[in-house]
Amino acid sequence: MRLILLGAPGSGKGTIAEELTKQYGVVHISTGDIFRANIKEKTPLGTEAKQYMDRGELVPDSITIAMIGDRLAQPDCASAFMLDGFPRTIPQAEELDKLLADKGVSLDAVISVRISDDVIKTRVSDRRVCESCGASFSLSFRPTKVEGICDLCGGNVVQREDDKPETVLSRLKTYHEKTQPLTDFYQKKGLILSADNEVSYIQAIEQINKGFIARGIIRE
Ligand code: AMP
Repeated sequence: MRLILLGAPGSGKGTIAEELTKQYGVVHISTGDIFRANIKEKTPLGTEAKQYMDRGELVPDSITIAMIGDRLAQPDCASAFMLDGFPRTIPQAEELDKLLADKGVSLDAVISVRISDDVIKTRVSDRRVCESCGASFSLSFRPTKVEGICDLCGGNVVQREDDKPETVLSRLKTYHEKTQPLTDFYQKKGLILSADNEVSYIQAIEQINKGFIARGIIRE
């Protein structure tokens, strides 16, 4: 199973990815998580990426494409993977096509997570993440049992720097300009599978599973 999760920042891609990983055991590759891990470890890649991320801008294609090329070359991606947050621009999608063609493999589906900007703004302002293990919580839907402490590992739970309201607006603008055109790009290839996450991710997952069955990706 080779999948892409496409959606605005805060659209719930991470939660949907977590659920699909549980159901299908597919390797989850989040470019945002890889950048954040590099920032935490203060690698040269992290230092470079941070300047863009802090402003709510995209990290340049050349850096991002090289990073994903390395990741997809690892053995755990040989037969299945789910890309979350990549591609985010048409040049990234074209490079991914080349990379997959070189390997002689193709995508099974591109899941397009649909949600309005208004709902995103509320959900993102409620989002909190664990600094240690990256687990995601929500002040409204999934609060931590003890305020500020991760239920899973006991780490500190904080608001992501780029989830602050000013940065969210700029991330949404970037999304509409640079990433939304990818829906058309993949629609033309017949790969889009829509998932409505406006109400709940459970509903979105049901639509995805139905789509997988309809396309013969999984059996009923
Ligand atoms: P995310 O966790 O997916 O919301 O990503 C957080 C930030 O990482 C984004 O706002 C970008 O600055 C950067 N980023 C993640 N994925 C990409 C990508 N495919 N291309 C460029 N920048 C990215």
